[in-house]
Amino acid sequence: MAVLEVLQYPHEILKKKCALIEKIDNKTNQLIDDMIESLHSFPGCVGIAAPQVGCSLQLIVVNVSGHKKTTISHGLLMLLNPVIRMREGEVISREGCLSLPDYTGNVKRAVKISICAQNRMGQHIEMESKGFEAIVLQHEIDHLNGILFVDRIISLKNDLFRRKKYKEQKE
Ligand SMILES: [Zn+2]
Repeated sequence: MAVLEVLQYPHEILKKKCALIEKIDNKTNQLIDDMIESLHSFPGCVGIAAPQVGCSLQLIVVNVSGHKKTTISHGLLMLLNPVIRMREGEVISREGCLSLPDYTGNVKRAVKISICAQNRMGQHIEMESKGFEAIVLQHEIDHLNGILFVDRIISLKNDLFRRKKYKEQKE
C-alpha cells in the first residue's frame, strides 16, 4: 500500500468526467487500497475521489467515523460507479478539499440522499445517508463528474474563505 499524491486545482483531470469501472482487477484493488491508506494518512480527511490521485475512474472512498460533525456513519465506504438516485432537503455547510488546500467555502447540498453503486466485489448496492456523511458523499461524487466545491459556491464574493488555520500551521 502507498500514500498517493493528491492533485491540486486547476489540474485538468479534476475537471473531467471519470470513466465507469467495468472490470475489477488487481490494479483496481491496488488503487482502492492505496486510496484507503491515503484517506487515513491525511489528518481530518473524510473522503477521496480517484481523479484526485490522478485516476479518471468512478471510485470514491469515504470514512466520516470519529469526525466531530458526524451524526451517522457507515464506517469505511468504497463505492464504485456511485450514482445519487434521490435527494431530499437542503443544507448549507462549510466545505474544504485536499485539491484546494487553501480555501473553504459555503455550499448547498441535499440533507438526505440515496445512492446506487457497486462494492469492491462488484456487487450492486443501495444505501441511504444523511447529515455530514451525505454531504461528503455528494462532494466526492461531484469529483467523478469534474465538479469541485468552488463550482457550487453560493457566492464567490461572500462564501469563499482563505483557510487561515492551515497557513498558521505552515509558518
Ligand atoms: Zn474534494
